[in-house]
Amino acid sequence: MIINIAVIKGDGIGPEIIDGAIDVLKKVEEYYGHRFLFKEVLAGGSAIDVTGEPLPKETIQVCKECDAVLLGAVGGPKWDHLSGELRPEKALLSLREELGLYANLRPAVLYESLKGASPLRDELLSNGIDICVVRELTGGIYFGEKGRNQKGKLGEAAYDVEIYSVGEVERIAKVAFEIAAKRKGKVTSIDKANVLESSRLWRSVVTNVAKQYVDIELEHMYVDNAAMQLIRDPNQFDVIVTSNMFGDILSDEASMITGSIGMLPSASLGYGSKGMYEPIHGSAPDISGKNIANPIATILSAAMMLRHSFKLEEEANSIEKAVEAVLREGYRTADITSAGMKLVGTKEMTKLIINKLGVMS
Ligand code: NAD
Repeated sequence: MIINIAVIKGDGIGPEIIDGAIDVLKKVEEYYGHRFLFKEVLAGGSAIDVTGEPLPKETIQVCKECDAVLLGAVGGPKWDHLSGELRPEKALLSLREELGLYANLRPAVLYESLKGASPLRDELLSNGIDICVVRELTGGIYFGEKGRNQKGKLGEAAYDVEIYSVGEVERIAKVAFEIAAKRKGKVTSIDKANVLESSRLWRSVVTNVAKQYVDIELEHMYVDNAAMQLIRDPNQFDVIVTSNMFGDILSDEASMITGSIGMLPSASLGYGSKGMYEPIHGSAPDISGKNIANPIATILSAAMMLRHSFKLEEEANSIEKAVEAVLREGYRTADITSAGMKLVGTKEMTKLIINKLGVMS
């Protein structure tokens, strides 16, 4: 089978971690007899440097033509002086919108061998952590009307509107219930319905959708409580469904309690099988070019791509098992290391995972 993959390396550590994921995919290709065609395109700061815009038309075109998109990360201090539409991060928002990717899946899993890297106490981790955050991706405050005016109570004011329609909430809720049906069967919908009208609509729509999924347990939780509960008792969660901004923040929190932001992959999905796959972290300019970035989040994003876009379950499993095996043997990048572990760089970690691939499948 020939599979076309659009590749956006991006900025900062983006190129290093994407190179690692591509090497892993090339090994999968060789081992399982697939054919992956990688088409590299520009987005973010590197696109601004070459074309003057964060998301060139050619990039949108290639991403639409390919079967999936694999992305590193974009942004960095070099482009921080730019505003609004010209910022590197705008490329991601626009690309998600162009590709109709409204559901962002962010699994937060604590590997047994990484318990030491979690900031939580041992007794809170005895039952492990295995949460799937389903974040709405193309609506809410990040896409609502925004602006500035001179009529603020105490001078110039700025505003960003949080807005959700019934259809937008219905489709993301369905994604969450479908995922829960394949997991432990529980959905926690997170909102701020005690204050926000948009959250009250969110809550009533999710409650309605739940009627189609009688075997799934649904609970509602306010976002402030959820932020606390994630630390107090993370094991109570199975699938979390929430809005764009709450999901952005809570999934970073979930990542931290599982050890490192460098471990967590994500998938952005819409209608059909096309998806965009990327680590949840940013371009980490502070460590870029030093061969110390953790490539695992990106390698696991490639595994999610094989599973969700191409239905290559066995191949996805083999990558995940290879990662687990390398961690079990005590190899660690700097962000997840602790006393007694074997410290390795980005390239070495990638190589170790590749070497395990054939063995672990
Ligand atoms: P960040 O995620 O890039 O970094 C936060 C911290 O985590 C840093 O200390 C970094 O060194 C560390 N870190 C991140 N990924 C790591 C990895 N793979 N291995 C080891 N350590 C890792 O967040 P930030 O510093 O807030 O943002 C940096 C830039 O990235 C900004 O320009 C921001 O806008 C952008 N950003 C991009 C995306 C994206 O492309 N999806 C997401 C978030 C932030």
